[in-house]
Amino acid sequence: MRLGVIFIITSLLLGCNEPAKSTYPETDVKMELKQVSDHIYYVQGKAGIATDNEGFISNAGFIVTDEGVIVFDTLGTPSLANLLLTKIRTVTDKPILKVIVSHYHADHIYGLQVFKEQGAQIIAPKGAMEYLSLSKNDELLELRRFELEPWVNESTHLVTPDVIVEKPMKFSHGGIDFTLDVLGAAHSDGDLTLFVEPENVFFSGDIIFEGRVPYLGDANTKRWLDTLIKMEVGKITALIPGHGPAAKNPNKAISSTRSYLAKIRTVMAGAVENMDDFAETYDKTDWSEFEKLPAFAEANRRNAYQVFLSMEEELFNK
Ligand SMILES: [Zn+2]
Repeated sequence: MRLGVIFIITSLLLGCNEPAKSTYPETDVKMELKQVSDHIYYVQGKAGIATDNEGFISNAGFIVTDEGVIVFDTLGTPSLANLLLTKIRTVTDKPILKVIVSHYHADHIYGLQVFKEQGAQIIAPKGAMEYLSLSKNDELLELRRFELEPWVNESTHLVTPDVIVEKPMKFSHGGIDFTLDVLGAAHSDGDLTLFVEPENVFFSGDIIFEGRVPYLGDANTKRWLDTLIKMEVGKITALIPGHGPAAKNPNKAISSTRSYLAKIRTVMAGAVENMDDFAETYDKTDWSEFEKLPAFAEANRRNAYQVFLSMEEELFNK
């Protein structure tokens, strides 16, 4: 009888969700929950490279509806995702219905298993399966087990999405409308954005970087730039990027990423056309507009070289 009462009380305290089935090594990073509108919250990763700050370098957000919670991205380790789950539980005990993944890169997906355990449906853009099929991404996970030990460990595994989004789609929960847009290979093999109405909040993933130099990786910068140019921002009241703070001025955030991409592409297009040497071109270019941004020193030269190589390819494939 008494046990039964305790069980009921415990169940009430825990809400209708199952508690996490696994335990995760605790992380001591400071993760502050920020509310951007009535139903929408996010946490902001710190500036730095992938292994800084116990892997807390990217953002994740969530939307609380009457039916349950929709999560956007899951951070760079299961421990961080578990801390995010704890933060969600300070706001609501409703079930986690879905996780929307902006793109399959380690800093956004290593936390997926925590939400999968909660029964969430994992929704990801086309490109996720390519990521999962490449052995280099298994090797990266192996490497992170050393670099981000103990937060990435032997129990950390890549999660296959339940739904692959190939074209724009909409769904609604508890009177809130969600629009997913698939942008193709922009920053990664597949990038997806989320627009939430009626609050008009836009989750851009890594298409937009606020306040730091973007990591271009294998990005198709041509398509990325085209996407930004076409992006309709008139309706957006808040923009939550993949990295950095929510943009106070969404238009400005979009234009700063756009101008960075445009600058690199213009400079490297000139070099490729004239068959100039990369290093010489890089060194004589005035980067002062972006020099003071975090991650400039780590990322800019590599970004420029990636664009140089890809523009050579674009030129030959014309
Ligand atoms: Zn990222």
